[in-house]
Amino acid sequence: MKSGPHPSHQTRISMGASTYDEICTICGATDEVPGGWGRLAEPCPGPVSVDRALADGRAIPLSAWTLAMPAITCPRCGMVSYHPKDVSERYCGHCHEFHEHMKETP
Ligand SMILES: [Zn+2]
Ligand SMILES: [Zn+2]
Repeated sequence: MKSGPHPSHQTRISMGASTYDEICTICGATDEVPGGWGRLAEPCPGPVSVDRALADGRAIPLSAWTLAMPAITCPRCGMVSYHPKDVSERYCGHCHEFHEHMKETP
């Protein structure tokens, strides 16, 4: 019986993915179980960290990025990076240079 996802989830329909149709933007749960709702049938556990999502091998919800991941914007190319190492070291993976060095050589 497919009654629907638990109302505590904030689901949106995924157009691109083939493995699921709906994903919770808070916890990243998907209805990946055919004919069922998978984790969506359970109450939403709330925002998960990106590390947790990666460890579970599930989709990283939008809220996890915005909550847990400070982003850095490259002053030179404008690329936004959410990579923890890039953020902590202020490194641009596109320019392959540290932001500090860019300030010195504008
Ligand atoms: Zn949820
Ligand atoms: Zn850059």
